[in-house]
Parts: sequence; structure tokens; C-alpha cells
Amino acid sequence: MLRFSGLKPPNKKVPPKWLPAYEEYIRTVEGQVAVIAAWVLLVTVIFYQFSHELRLAHHPDLWLTEFCLRIPVLLAASLTLLSHYASKPLCQNRHLLRGMGVSVMVMILGLFLIHYNGRTADTYQITNGMVISFFGVAILSVRGSREWWLMFALPLTVFALVARTQGLVLSELLPFLFDPLVMMIIGMVTSEALRQLREGEFLARQQLREQATTDQLTGLLNRRAMHTLLEQEHSRAQRYGTTHSLILGDLDRFKRVNDRYGHDIGDAVLKETARKLNSHMRAQDVLCRWGGEEVLILLPETDLEGAIHLAEKLRVAIAEQPMHAGEHLIPQTISLGVTSCRGRNDIENAIKRADEALYKAKDGGRNRTEAIAPPLSEHALPAHQGI
Ligand code: GH3
Ligand code: MG
Ligand code: MG
Repeated sequence: MLRFSGLKPPNKKVPPKWLPAYEEYIRTVEGQVAVIAAWVLLVTVIFYQFSHELRLAHHPDLWLTEFCLRIPVLLAASLTLLSHYASKPLCQNRHLLRGMGVSVMVMILGLFLIHYNGRTADTYQITNGMVISFFGVAILSVRGSREWWLMFALPLTVFALVARTQGLVLSELLPFLFDPLVMMIIGMVTSEALRQLREGEFLARQQLREQATTDQLTGLLNRRAMHTLLEQEHSRAQRYGTTHSLILGDLDRFKRVNDRYGHDIGDAVLKETARKLNSHMRAQDVLCRWGGEEVLILLPETDLEGAIHLAEKLRVAIAEQPMHAGEHLIPQTISLGVTSCRGRNDIENAIKRADEALYKAKDGGRNRTEAIAPPLSEHALPAHQGI
């Protein structure tokens, strides 16, 4: 069944992980197209309503009928602009585009019907308008082919039915519809090409963004990307008074792995470590490669106790089974330093505390979890006073 909402079924080229970002991007494009289209429609439709008075073949008797056919377009365009300039959008741009597209089709096909009376001069004038309208409506279908059923197939079917009830023979109407239909096809091809261009541009941008935020070896977030997330989480914590925690991990005696098996096998151990840690992470937790064989984990909405619990789970997961690296099975352990942050706090201080805890774990014999609670002063002020 055809669906006219969201991006389902999933776009073949955009990987599922990027679909939410793609949806966001398409919404932005739809917003831009909707506003431009609304202004163009408001100006041209009003202009054509009044310019009829100047025509040679002017029919004053049809002024009101024409106006009634133009009202839905004027309403759809006004609603689009109102929604855009309101502090909060009144309606999704997708629906506004559809509203404008369908109302333009109703208007232009309606005008064609009322002017088609063998008076060829009028009919050809409207046919010229149809050429432009059909092209414009195809361009409004930012989401591509699924929209065309709504924008063209539906109005054209209704038009064919109404024409029949009025005793008009479709084969006679067809010559007048020929140019608009060709324009519709050109519009569809253009809109599809634009859609593919947008998709390509989106994918290229996402890949660049991912390269800039991802560690090439392990596929984990890199330090720079983590810093941004830490800043976001810290300001959220300050604002809402929530607690989050950090776990800093460092592989034990990793130099020996490199020395004994070589750098490539060392790399494989790092990859395997990332995979193992990732498989124990909750959806909201963020794991990054903080340095050479160091990882940092951000646990939103998690207190110290919860963080220690997870750190222990990770430590055991690494220690209990040797790493598969090439043909080797290499025993590996990890030491972990845990801290939590609440209310007034500072990113650098929090990382320093996690680092101190990690140092304690190393000092205490490695393959251990140590924790340092935040100083009491961090709790002293309610969150909203801390800004
Ligand atoms: P400790 O238990 O005290 O942490 O001992 P360690 O040997 O792990 O000491 P340290 O953390 O100082 O050493 C880190 C080593 O990790 C040094 C470096 O050769 C290795 N390393 C860092 N980045 C990479 C990498 O990308 N690939 C490989 N194979 N090794 C790396
Ligand atoms: Mg280290
Ligand atoms: Mg180490």
C-alpha cells in the first residue's frame, strides 16, 4: 500500500542509521520549497484573478466562479506562510506542499473545464497556464514519486469523471492536455533529478561528518566528537540537575602485546576491545576512543553506583575471555576509573577525577575498577542556580 507519511519504506541508498538525519534534512528542504512556492502562488494567482478584466475575451460572468476555484490555492499558500512565520509551525511542510499542489491542480483543471466550450482562444490561454502549473506541482513533490499519485493521479481522475458527467469527450480534451502532460513528465524527471542530487549531497555530507567524528581503527567516536557530547551533557545536567557519570578505561600492559605480537595484532586487539565494550553498552551510553588504548564512556542519567556496576561488567567481559586477534588468543585486562557529575561541575575536573581513579586502579594492581565521587561542593547548589 502506498503511504504518504514519513520516509517508509526505508530509502534504499540512505543507510538506516542516517534515516532520522535524512528526514530532518528533507523537512528543511520542504520548508524552503513551501515558502517560495507560497509567495509565488499568492502573487501570481491574485494577479491572474484581476488581469482577466484586461483580456479581450473577458467573461465577467465567470469572475466569481474563477475566484472560487482560486480560493483553495490562496488559503493553502496563506496557511503555509502563516505556519512558516509563526513562532511554532502550525502544520508539517509536507502537508502544506500537498495542500498547495492539489489545490493548484483543482484550480487549473477547474478553470480548464469552465473555459472549455469550444472557445479555443480561452482554452489555449488556460492550457498555457496548465503547462506552468503541472511543472510547478511536480516540483512541489520534494519526497519524490509517491507524492505524484496524490498530486496528479487523483486530481486528473476526478477531472476525467467530472468531464464525463458534463458530457465532454476525453479524446477531444486530450489535444489540450498534451502540452501540460509533457510538462508534467519534464517536471517529474526534474524533481526526481533534484531529489537524487539532494540525496547525494546529503550522503556526502554525512560521510564527511562521520569521518570527522569517528576513529578509523575502531569505528568508535573520536575524542573531538566526545568533547562536544560531554559539553552537551554537562549543560543539560546543569540545567535540569541530572547526574551523569564517566568511565575512563585503559588496557593493561598493552605495550607488551605490541612488543610480542606486533602492531597489527595490537590493532586487532583494540578493535576487539571496542566490539566487546560496545556489546555491553546501553543504548543511551556513549563510548569513545579517548587515546591510544584508552576509552571514555559517558553514561547519561546514571549515578556513581550505576556507573561502577557497568564498569565492573565491562571489566569482567574483557578479562573473562581472551581476545581473538588474527590467529592468536590473547589474554587482556582493562583498568577502569569511574566518577559522576551533578549540578555545578566542570568537564575538565570530571575527566581529571576519572583519570585519578584510573591511576588508583593501575596502582592497585590493574584489572580493577576504582571510583572517585564528585566533591560535595558540586551538590551544594541546586542546578538552576549554577549557571
Ligand atoms: P598500563 O597497564 O600501565 O596501561 O601499561 P601499558 O603498556 O598499556 O602502558 P601505556 O598505557 O602507557 O601504553 C600504551 C601503549 O598503547 C603504547 C602504544 O604502543 C600502544 N598504542 C597506542 N595506540 C595504539 C594503536 O593505535 N595501535 C597499537 N597497536 N598500539 C597502540
Ligand atoms: Mg594508556
Ligand atoms: Mg595501558
